[in-house]
Amino acid sequence: MNSPNDSKLYAHIALPVPLIGGFDYIVTKVQTEHAVAGARALVPFGNRRLVGVVLELKTRCDLDDAKLKPIDMIFTEQPVFSSEMLTLLSWAAHYYSHPIGEVFSNALPSALRKPKAAPTYTKSLWRRTRKAFEGRSNAHLQIAALDALEHSPSGLWDDALRIMGFSTNLLRKLEQQDYIEREENDLSSKAMQISEDAHHYTLNEEQAATLTSIKAKLGRFSPHLLEGVTGSGKTEVYIAAVKECLLLDKQALVLVPEINLTPQTFKRFQSQLGIPVAVYHSGMTEKEKFITYQMLKTGQAKVLIGTRSAIFLSTQALGLIIVDEEHDSSYKQSDNFKYSARDLAVKRAQLEDCAIVLGSATPSSDSLLNAQQGRFDWLTLNQRAKKAAMPTIKLEDMRALTSKDILSPRTLAKIKTQIDQGNQVIVFHNRRGLAPSLMCFDCGWIYQCPNCDARATVHQRPARLHCHHCDYKSPIVGSCPQCKGTNVNAVGAGTERIEQILHYYFPNTDLVRLDRDEIKNQADLEQATSIIHQGQPCLIVGTQMIVKGHDFPDVTLVVVVDADGLFFSSDFRAMEKGAQQLLQVAGRAGRGDKKGEVTIQTRQPEHPLLELLKQHQYTNFMQNELRERELCALPPFSKLATIRAESVDAGRCEQALAQLKGCLNSTKELAGICIAGPLSAAISRKQNRYRYYLHVFAENNKQRFIAQHYTLHFIHQLKQRDLRLSIDVDPIETN
Ligand code: ADP
Ligand code: ZN
Ligand code: ZN
Repeated sequence: MNSPNDSKLYAHIALPVPLIGGFDYIVTKVQTEHAVAGARALVPFGNRRLVGVVLELKTRCDLDDAKLKPIDMIFTEQPVFSSEMLTLLSWAAHYYSHPIGEVFSNALPSALRKPKAAPTYTKSLWRRTRKAFEGRSNAHLQIAALDALEHSPSGLWDDALRIMGFSTNLLRKLEQQDYIEREENDLSSKAMQISEDAHHYTLNEEQAATLTSIKAKLGRFSPHLLEGVTGSGKTEVYIAAVKECLLLDKQALVLVPEINLTPQTFKRFQSQLGIPVAVYHSGMTEKEKFITYQMLKTGQAKVLIGTRSAIFLSTQALGLIIVDEEHDSSYKQSDNFKYSARDLAVKRAQLEDCAIVLGSATPSSDSLLNAQQGRFDWLTLNQRAKKAAMPTIKLEDMRALTSKDILSPRTLAKIKTQIDQGNQVIVFHNRRGLAPSLMCFDCGWIYQCPNCDARATVHQRPARLHCHHCDYKSPIVGSCPQCKGTNVNAVGAGTERIEQILHYYFPNTDLVRLDRDEIKNQADLEQATSIIHQGQPCLIVGTQMIVKGHDFPDVTLVVVVDADGLFFSSDFRAMEKGAQQLLQVAGRAGRGDKKGEVTIQTRQPEHPLLELLKQHQYTNFMQNELRERELCALPPFSKLATIRAESVDAGRCEQALAQLKGCLNSTKELAGICIAGPLSAAISRKQNRYRYYLHVFAENNKQRFIAQHYTLHFIHQLKQRDLRLSIDVDPIETN
C-alpha cells in the first residue's frame, strides 16, 4: 500500500458498463486541473476508452498507486451535472440497487455519451410578424399556428410548436409568406418575461387558497399533495404557482404522465405563461433532447414540461416541481433502471430545497399516507371549477344478461338519449382489439401465444392474432387444431367489437376510437380529437388513452363497459388501481357546463367498494384500503422489494429464489423480515422465458436496504448461465 501523497488527485469515476464484482466506480489518477465533480472524463478501460462522469475527487487512496491508470482527459466544458444532481443520481443508484454508471448514462443526453466535446446546436424561436393574415379562412392549421404565436409574443420553440400539432413544413410555409419569423437561440432576458396579456382565469376561492399555501413555501423544501376532484382546476393552480416561481426568478419543472398524445396540458401552460415553455419526452430526437438539456441547465429555459425522464435534467435555480396525476403508473420505469420519477422528484425537491406539488384527483396510497401523517401538506379542491356539479354515478346490474351482452339494453337507451340531445358519449373499455380470445366452441380449445402463457388477442383491422406481451402476430386460424372442427369464434369484447356494436345501433353518428391500434402518433390524435372538439354528437370508444389529460366539454355520459375487470387481479394494488381508473374515467363526464352521468356495468352491484365510489368517496375508500394494508403489513406500511428471476428453465428460477430466500432468512440483521415466494408470475412464461418472483417486505427502508445488499451479493456470486435476477424496489406491478 502506498503512503498518501498530497500532490496527487484520485477520481472516482462512474462508467456506463457493468463492473466486475458489482463495484460502483473505478478509481483513476488525475493530473489535470480541470477535474471537478460532475465533469465528463475519458478513461482507459480494458482496451477501450469510455466516457465516464467524475463522482468525487480524493487526495488519498488506499489502493496500490502503481496499479491505477491515469485518466486520458477531462472534457473542459462545464460539469454535466449540478452538485444536487450528482447527489440525487448517486442516491438513486443506491436506493434502487442499480449500477451507478447506468444511472448516470440514463441521465446523460446521448450526445454527451460520445467521446467528443459537447456539440453546439442552435434552436429556432418563432415569432409572429406584423403582417396580417391574407390566406384562406378555412386554412385552420395556419390560423391556429398564428393564433398560438400571437398569444406568445416572446415566441415559441419549434419542438413546442410540434407538440401543439404544427409541423415544420407548415412553419416554413408561413415563414416564406412573412407571417412569422425565426431567431436562432435568442434567449435574451427580455424575451423571457411573462406576457401580461396572456389569457388566464381568475382563480376561485378554493384555488386561491391552495395557491396561497404553495406560494408561502416556495423558497424551501415543502412537499404538497394537491387532491382535487376531476375538473376542479388543478392545472390552473399549477400555472399560477409556476408564475409565482418565475417571479422569484427560479425555474419550474412540470412532470406529466404523457405529453405527445396529450398536447392540451402543454398548450394551456404555453398560452397562459406567455414565455417559451420547453418540452422533453421520448419522441424527441437526440439533438432536440440535448438542446433542451442545455437550455435548462444554463437557465435559458425557465419552465419545462416533460415525461418521467425529465426528472434527470439539471437546472440552474429550481424553485418548483409539479407532478401531475401523481398516481399514474407511467412515472415508474418498468425495466432496466426501475426508478419512480415521482419519488425521485420528492427527493430532488429536498436536495434543491424547493417546493413540490403532487397533484391528482385520485392520489396514490403512498402519497395519501404521507399527507395523513403530516409529511406532505394536504391541499384539497372539492368543487368543479366550471358550473357543472360532479357527475352522478349509477351502477348497471349485468347479472341477468348473458355473457354475450356487451352493452345492456338500458345502457344503449341512455346512449341514445344523450346522442339525440346533441351530446357526446364516452364508452370506456380497457382492452384493445376485437376480442381477448379465440375459442373452439366444439372442444373448448383456446388459441395461446406460442411464446407466452397467455392468450393472443383477436384483431379485426388488420385481421390477425396478436400477443400483447411479446408482439407475436399470426393469421387468424379458421379451424381447430385439436378437433379439426371449424366452429372457431372470437370470444369477449375489445374496443373494436364495441365500435362494431355502436356502429350497428348508431349508423349515422360520428364514432371515434382512441386506443393504441388506432392512434399511433400525434397526427392521428389531432385528427380524432378535432372531430370531438367540433361539438357535434359523437361516440368516443377507447382504452385508458381517453382518460389521460383530455378535456372534452361536450361529453355528458361515460359508460364503463366492464368494471369488474378493473378490480380483479392478484395484485394487492388492484383495488387502488381499479378505483383510480374508474373515477378518472368517470371524471370525463360533465366537464363543461352540462351535468354529466356515469354508467358502470357490473356483475357485482352490491360490492361495498362500488357503493363508495358511486358517492365519489375516494378518500373514504382509500382510508379502508389503507387500514387493510396496515393490518396485512403491506406497502405503504412496509417497504417492498421484489426480486424477479427469468430463465428458459423454470426450475432454475425457482431454485435460485428459494436459495436466496434461505440466505436472507438466515441473516441475523434481517430478523422479522417477511418473504413471500418463490411464486410464478401471473404470466408465467413470456417470450419463452419463465418468470418467478420473491416479495421481500421489510419493516423500514433500512432493513430493506440490508436485504437489497445481500441480494446484490447473491446475484454477483451467481454462476448460473441463462438466469437473470433483478431487484425492483417499490414495484407497481406485483404479480
Ligand atoms: P383538473 O386539472 O383539476 O382536472 P382543469 O384545470 O382541467 O381541472 O379545469 C377544468 C376546467 O375548468 C377547464 O376547462 C378549465 O379551463 C376550467 N377552469 C379552471 N379553473 C377555472 C376558473 N377559476 N374559472 C373558470 N374556469 C376554470
Ligand atoms: Zn376444437
Ligand atoms: Zn406472446
